[in-house]
Amino acid sequence: MARAPRAVAGHVPRRRFGQNFLVDPHVVDRIVAAIAPVPGDTLVEIGPGQGALTQPLLEHLPHMHAVEIDRDLAAALARRFTPDRLTLHQADALQFDFAGLGQSLRIVGNLPYNISSPLLFRLTEYRECIRDCHFMLQREVVERMAAPPGDKTYGRLSVMLQYWYAVQRLFRVPPGAFRPAPQVDSAVVRLTPLRPLASAARDYQAFSRIVTDAFSHRRKTLRNALRDTVPLEAFHAAGMDPGRRPETLSVVEFVRLSDALP
Ligand code: SAM
Repeated sequence: MARAPRAVAGHVPRRRFGQNFLVDPHVVDRIVAAIAPVPGDTLVEIGPGQGALTQPLLEHLPHMHAVEIDRDLAAALARRFTPDRLTLHQADALQFDFAGLGQSLRIVGNLPYNISSPLLFRLTEYRECIRDCHFMLQREVVERMAAPPGDKTYGRLSVMLQYWYAVQRLFRVPPGAFRPAPQVDSAVVRLTPLRPLASAARDYQAFSRIVTDAFSHRRKTLRNALRDTVPLEAFHAAGMDPGRRPETLSVVEFVRLSDALP
């Protein structure tokens, strides 16, 4: 079993960087087992922090990458791990060029919760060079990501991620596994890029616009929610009842509707 993660002496967690450090070795073990890293994997950790995951991951791998925004934590990691084991990128993951690290990337991280959605969307831009992702996120976000049509949490995040990935909710993590403890439950999720896509939109921008508009008015019918985006003929062409509610449409149906736009 993993040892209890080591803290960086004197470091005061920074709320603006979403710093809730993992301190439960059982949870660390479960995450590492879910990732199952083997030599030859190109592993990239987002937000290594004090190295709670980095250390046990490096017990399975000769080398990995990490992207950390906090200068003090990056400096502490650079003192702890030599560059031949850990290539440290002191950078903002929202700006970072993941494609520069190679192909078949395995991306992992106990993500800063304040930037999780923009980060997930940004990573879809790099899907071609990603093999899989394992992330710890707020449980509520993981539920939205994995929700099927008809579920009360099914929404824009579910459709836009399930368009690109197979989304697998792995396990729940309670607040006590972190210091400081967050106010909410967390969960670990696995994202595996779909190759090929289950259903590819003819015009991705149009598909994305329809999904955004539909869920900005989720209590309305499709006809009313998409009054400015989708003409009635398009519903007929797609063979879709415009009286349905947005949360009942599958990803494939959203694609069919956007493909029916004139
Ligand atoms: N992996 C560590 C652990 O499990 O204990 C730390 C997790 S903590 C929830 C999030 C980490 O992401 C922190 O180290 C924080 O400094 C870093 N971080 C926050 N925003 C970031 C960003 N935009 N780019 C890269 N790292 C970021």
